[in-house]
Amino acid sequence: MFVRAYPAGKPLVLPTGPYLLLPFVADGELLVHHNRHGASLLRGDSAPDNALFIGTLDGLPCLAYFQVPAADDDAVEPEGLRRLGLRALFGHLADEETTVAGYASQLIRWQKNARFCPSCGGPTHNDDGWNQKCAACGFNHYPPATPAVLILVHDGAGNILLGQKEGWGKRYSILAGFVEPGESLEDCCRRETIEEVQITIGECVYDGSQPWPFPHQLMVGFICRYESGQIVPDPTELSHAAWFHHTSLPELPPSYALSRQLIDRWIAKQAERRNATLL
Ligand SMILES: [Zn+2]
Repeated sequence: MFVRAYPAGKPLVLPTGPYLLLPFVADGELLVHHNRHGASLLRGDSAPDNALFIGTLDGLPCLAYFQVPAADDDAVEPEGLRRLGLRALFGHLADEETTVAGYASQLIRWQKNARFCPSCGGPTHNDDGWNQKCAACGFNHYPPATPAVLILVHDGAGNILLGQKEGWGKRYSILAGFVEPGESLEDCCRRETIEEVQITIGECVYDGSQPWPFPHQLMVGFICRYESGQIVPDPTELSHAAWFHHTSLPELPPSYALSRQLIDRWIAKQAERRNATLL
């Protein structure tokens, strides 16, 4: 289990090792053990000076840091190790290590990008959790998590609405969109569905969430019931959209993505419903 830690109090005292190490060698790229069986986070006994203690995973302190000051140094890839972007790590690292790597990447990026006040431009400092506070004007901010909805629209008769974007190849997925300020998650589902395909939906039922560190989304999944309208894709958002029966689906997103997990759970329910009907 991962237990978060926060940098409350100065000077920061690191726990003693051994550690799980998360060295980022370029923005978003992590150095990991890698072999034909998969990838795993590094273990080590020494803590670099610039390490952030972000929490413990099964009791092991996790340290995130930049491996080298020059973010574009291509030479850092020792024997048995590989530098991989987070997307490449999804599905290769164990689930909890993936979560920790995604969290670490956001804190590393936050530390780099929040050094100056977005209001007055003055230098910021940390004094509460992961905040960065401006000494000059008092503006205080925290690492962001940006909500976005995943919208599985079905018609109640075994069909699901899937769309395709430029550059996805043969892959289709459910609709998605960022939540606007002042908008509920359910209203976002309704607005996005109208904007993207001109379909009106009724009931929206929450069906899970997933942190998505590209760069700092929180994906929130909903199962939504079709109400009215014909599919008319917005060409600025989608290259194609259509209804697909659950027994005849196109290429779908990879299994680690919440969008695929929502689809898989919905398919399982269709099969259950069909079996119940046959009994
Ligand atoms: Zn300021």
